[in-house]
Amino acid sequence: MSILQKVPVATLGMPRIGRRRELKRALESYWSQKSAADDLFETARALREANWIEQCDRGVTIIPSNDFSLYDHVLDTAVMVGAVPEHYGWSEGDVPIPLDTYFAMARGHQGEAADSATAGVDHAVRAMEMTKWFDTNYHYIVPELADDQAFALSSAKPVDHFLEARALGIRTRPVILGPITFLKLSKSSARGFNPIALLPKLLSVYEKLLRRLKLAGADWVQIDEPALVVDLLPNEQAAFEFAYDRLSKAAPDLKIMLATYFGALGDNLGTALSLPIAGLHIDLACAPEQLELVDRLAPKGLVLSLGVIDGRNVWRANLSAILGRVKPIVADWPLDRVEVAPSCSLLHVPVDLELETALDQDIKSWLAFATQKMEELTVLASALSEGRDMVAAELRSVDDAAVARATSPKVHDPLVERKLAGIADCMKQRKSAFAERTRFQIEKLRLPPFPTTTIGSFPQTQEVRDARAAHAKGRLSYLAYELFLRKEIEEAIGWQEEIGLDVLVHGEFERNDMVQYFAEQLSGFVFTQHAWVQSYGSRYVRPPIIFGDVSRPNPMTVKWWEFAQSLTKRPVKGMLTGPVTILNWSFVRDDLPRSVVCRQIALAIREEVLDLEKAGAQIIQIDEAALRERLPLRKSNWESYLDWAVQCFRLASTAVDDATQIHTHMCYSEFNEIINAIVDMDADVISIEASRSQMELLDAFQGFDYPNEIGPGIYDVHSPRVPGSDEMASLLSLARERLSDHQIWVNPDCGLKTRQWEEVRPALINMVEAARNLRSLR
Ligand code: GLN
Ligand code: ZN
Repeated sequence: MSILQKVPVATLGMPRIGRRRELKRALESYWSQKSAADDLFETARALREANWIEQCDRGVTIIPSNDFSLYDHVLDTAVMVGAVPEHYGWSEGDVPIPLDTYFAMARGHQGEAADSATAGVDHAVRAMEMTKWFDTNYHYIVPELADDQAFALSSAKPVDHFLEARALGIRTRPVILGPITFLKLSKSSARGFNPIALLPKLLSVYEKLLRRLKLAGADWVQIDEPALVVDLLPNEQAAFEFAYDRLSKAAPDLKIMLATYFGALGDNLGTALSLPIAGLHIDLACAPEQLELVDRLAPKGLVLSLGVIDGRNVWRANLSAILGRVKPIVADWPLDRVEVAPSCSLLHVPVDLELETALDQDIKSWLAFATQKMEELTVLASALSEGRDMVAAELRSVDDAAVARATSPKVHDPLVERKLAGIADCMKQRKSAFAERTRFQIEKLRLPPFPTTTIGSFPQTQEVRDARAAHAKGRLSYLAYELFLRKEIEEAIGWQEEIGLDVLVHGEFERNDMVQYFAEQLSGFVFTQHAWVQSYGSRYVRPPIIFGDVSRPNPMTVKWWEFAQSLTKRPVKGMLTGPVTILNWSFVRDDLPRSVVCRQIALAIREEVLDLEKAGAQIIQIDEAALRERLPLRKSNWESYLDWAVQCFRLASTAVDDATQIHTHMCYSEFNEIINAIVDMDADVISIEASRSQMELLDAFQGFDYPNEIGPGIYDVHSPRVPGSDEMASLLSLARERLSDHQIWVNPDCGLKTRQWEEVRPALINMVEAARNLRSLR
């Protein structure tokens, strides 16, 4: 009897959060001391077990372990190698690292002191920095390494989890973050020191770990090195050769599957293929074209893991098309040379589509979340090993859904297509250049020098949240809800007048989220009930899904703006989210280029801008908080992205009269490399996060003779601390060294929605005072 061998199916990693966000609940309960560490550990263990069993049941044959994390896998790796910065008070040898030390690194620690006069400094420790994992919306904790950093294997988590699965009868392929990617994601606590220099020391820990995994019974290990899809320096490429030479010798019988994802290997392909590894995973969702090349150049014995199913988006895969591409290439390979997998870990997609009971049935039939993606992979594996006929019915159902989607009137709106075709260059340009139009704006607005404003939102108090929730659940009528919001706006406007702000905002109390609020009112978006994905730690988001052509059936913000403006003579800003940010914080349809979807959103925002102007708004702010976020990983692709992103912003913003002032806002301070694009956006005023950078980021604008106005944030809204007016004044004088006085606006770093009124009130009073003092000096 011969057993038919089948192409193996891998997932690379699973969502950790649980079907019903069990991990979040367990974490928060532990943090608020409502439950014990053991309860948290038990929830975590049960989640791992459920994931392993689910994968077995769904036909996954290569099952990962150590993909689970209580908070973040990069933090886990830092802890595993003993890279705990000094101020967390951990002493080497105290192994495993205590849970509360781990969480202090992730979230900071408030300190024990009871009364506020003595509270803080001594006991409080800050959280480590957090930043985006490559070009995703997942945030990892940035490891901090000293130039004399010592490493020691300080957690056996990869081994423990391997054994845990084994006890259930499941032999897993442990996943670990590769040493080079780890070092490249780390920052050095010593100025000018490059963590990559720590590689030889770090490798000793990895060697030890691999030996222990082998000893525990592992045959394979998956080592993630997404750094292989970014631009590497020659010495970094060489570091790969050095590292994998050592690792392959450390445990010679432990096979390494080197996983790359989020892009093409490109000029690192030669490096990857020269490494002494047993397998290589490549991302064929982002970069399908690399299959042929890899096939041609790969050494004969190398196992290739084909990342054919998109691990970052929610659409059902076109299995026939994938087979059409892949089958001819792998046709003559032995079956044990190939694996099928998602392009990257399934961490970035929601858990299970079946939980969505309220979703439009057609749209639902076009989607696939993590659970469904496993099924897609097994269908592909069957088709590759036993032929298409084995799965003919499955393939037909996918094809039928694809045809339905491609022709659905829900997706295609001829009016949007016509509008898109009608976009002309003149629609992406203000009537006059800044130098010209600013005169009309000065004339109309009559603002004092160093005008003061805020970024838009005021504190979302418990009361505001409760009212929104009550309204959403039907417990509060729309009328009562609206009345409540009006009262909030009235108070906010009155208070801003009272403290003397020059340009006011309505406060954004009606908004749950700066993207969702707009997405809910635009056609072409749907929302889910349970489709959460981890953003960081216990914070999950439910991105809107763009499934069809986007249009704006009705004005979205005009009513709120009108009400706010009716309460005051001072200008109230119209407040919008920009097209690029709406795009980047959504799941985007995969049947159109992102640039085209963005253009549709831009046209909708453009209509809103014009309606606000018609209603009388003199200032309109269009936030592009996430423009930088989706910057391609490879520098060579930056220009094309920035080009369409900026064009979309211009399409949304330039239809107004010269006298109408367009603001934009960005919450990051790394401008140097994209300054051309920022200048190109041609907003009359741009507010940016700056308070922590000592205004150095303004240097970037200097080289351009940038004439437009800038509001460098002088109040750090990410901290509960209230800055004094002197402190803000000294930031302003730093700004004055770099900009002309008439360019400078005075504002906080970002919106104030996450702060308390008790912090916001004194801080803004101080901010106004700083501006006034400056005016009186001139
Ligand atoms: N206008 C938004 C607010 O103030 C901007 C938020 C953001 O930049 N993230 O909340
Ligand atoms: Zn911001």
